[in-house]
Amino acid sequence: MKNITVIGSGTMGNGIAHVFAMKGFQVNMVDISEKALEKGMATITKNLDRMVAKGSLTEQEKAATLANLTTVTDIAQVAPQSDLIVEAATENVDLKLKIFKQLDELAPAHTILATNTSSISITKIGAATKRADKVIGMHFMNPVPVMKLIEVIRGYNTTDEVTAQIMDLSKQLGKIPVEVNDYPGFVANRILMPMINEAIITLFEGVAGVEEIDQVMKLGMAHPMGPLQLADFIGLDVCLAILHVLHDGLGNPKYAPCPLLVNMVTAGHLGAKSGSGFYTYTPGSKELVVSPFFQK
Ligand code: NAD
Repeated sequence: MKNITVIGSGTMGNGIAHVFAMKGFQVNMVDISEKALEKGMATITKNLDRMVAKGSLTEQEKAATLANLTTVTDIAQVAPQSDLIVEAATENVDLKLKIFKQLDELAPAHTILATNTSSISITKIGAATKRADKVIGMHFMNPVPVMKLIEVIRGYNTTDEVTAQIMDLSKQLGKIPVEVNDYPGFVANRILMPMINEAIITLFEGVAGVEEIDQVMKLGMAHPMGPLQLADFIGLDVCLAILHVLHDGLGNPKYAPCPLLVNMVTAGHLGAKSGSGFYTYTPGSKELVVSPFFQK
């Protein structure tokens, strides 16, 4: 595999493009607007600069990584040359089905179509194409350049050969792939999202404040980040979308999203990416400040 297309240049898409480009792959990053692509490229450049400052990357390696990246708004321009397409667009089932149907029509027969979905059925996405055997989940973790895990999810029709190719490729990226089966939330979010939802319910019911809940989980369970800060970091809209998939797919009321989470997403408080969630985020500042909505 040489030529990789990444669809979406948001939180995950730019990270995925970054790691492929750093390992010498030719990467096309696709998004719906030039503005989104510029933002994605600015994040990649900032993250590469941080690596250079830390001494884990040279200036030459940074320049080579950037030279491996191109951006485009029209998928039809790049899909025909792609060996692998990794879709990291917004977590919305209808959008993903539409994108995969289009990719199936545009990409050559050998192209593997992977999705970074957090929770949507790989089997369902595969069924939108005529190549379900070559559709697979490649679930990177956030922040992609830092986190080692890739959860590799086999759809019902994904072949052993395609799974093996993606497991090998993940290792080439310096990551550790773990193979799992295709059920709602897979493994990572089946376990993580109920914990985040419970933390939000705990806040909603007034058991404790934002900082207290995060402190208990950091200090008591040795989590590097509390669940509310992590929810802000993942994106509250993404968390809500995953909980809906768990709730609908497993049919158990224990997965019902907390009404507070629903309200926050409806009001546009999506966490770090929108500047406000359980905490507020000021560009350039690392200080964690509880949102005025949750200050006592
Ligand atoms: P995001 O909102 O930060 O970015 C999504 C990007 O997709 C946006 O830039 C949007 O413009 C773009 N997009 C929407 N429709 C498109 C289209 N038709 N073609 C091209 N681009 C399109 O979202 P994100 O957090 O990067 O999530 C992307 C995917 O990764 C989702 O499936 C999500 O579930 C998954 N994921 C997210 C995390 C996380 O921590 N945020 C972790 C693992 C997986």
